[in-house]
Amino acid sequence: SIEVKQLKKSFGTLDVLKQVSFDVAPGEVIAVIGPSGSGKSTMLRSLIHLEDITGGTIRIQNQSLVDDGRYAGAAEIRKITDRMGMVFQHFNLFPHLTVLANLELAPKTLKKESARAIRTRSMELLAKVGLSDKADAYPANLSGGQKQRVAIARALMMQPDILLFDEPTSALDPELTGEVLRVIKQLAQENMTMMIVTHEMSFARDVADRVFFMDNGEIAEEGPPEQIFGAPKLARTQTFLQRVD
Ligand code: ATP
Ligand code: MG
Repeated sequence: SIEVKQLKKSFGTLDVLKQVSFDVAPGEVIAVIGPSGSGKSTMLRSLIHLEDITGGTIRIQNQSLVDDGRYAGAAEIRKITDRMGMVFQHFNLFPHLTVLANLELAPKTLKKESARAIRTRSMELLAKVGLSDKADAYPANLSGGQKQRVAIARALMMQPDILLFDEPTSALDPELTGEVLRVIKQLAQENMTMMIVTHEMSFARDVADRVFFMDNGEIAEEGPPEQIFGAPKLARTQTFLQRVD
């Protein structure tokens, strides 16, 4: 679960997030939509402590990452963020490592499991994303869609409770988005807790339990996809949706 209360984030004098509050229940899938610069990436990055927030509370799986602006200690922060995975628009794979080595690097560094247990999981996850035959390939020899599926498998290696996606298909050619969206949809069906920033409105409609419409540093409107896409309450939600359709 994720609980956010009165989250504020400023860069200098620029207030990027203004008192954002929301809850995400275990197994829930949230699509985050909204115009460029509205704060979507900053919000996701704050949850996994890639940004230091200016004020507010973030609780992950009932543990306080930051409580009324006061961060937990470094070890506690690490424990909390280790339970989360994030997948970015650009895949951030290690180019000098094979697909398998990309998947196994973090769990091997942790040294909590045998190499054999790690290998079993990496092969299972490659099968899950449809890339068993690419275990020994290097990222440069993969398509964008394949790279993004490797990035998802790599995030899953750490057995996260929560996955965050920041525009996972925005860098892909249209014909490659489907294979990535199918993997995310399967995770949704397996009840992974997820927040997905996306410009793919039909995907958001299809996969999300709730949609957050962000505008100007706040969640301006939120609700089930039928409501947000079918009968948005705010004029600015309507305007945004007309523009992207
Ligand atoms: P997009 O759809 O274009 O990805 P976004 O909704 O993800 O947009 P953010 O990247 O969260 O928006 O940015 C929100 C605002 O914060 C923007 O005005 C951006 O310029 C500003 N911003 C983001 N990161 C920084 C930074 N490190 N320093 C200063 N300003 C920043
Ligand atoms: Mg962004």
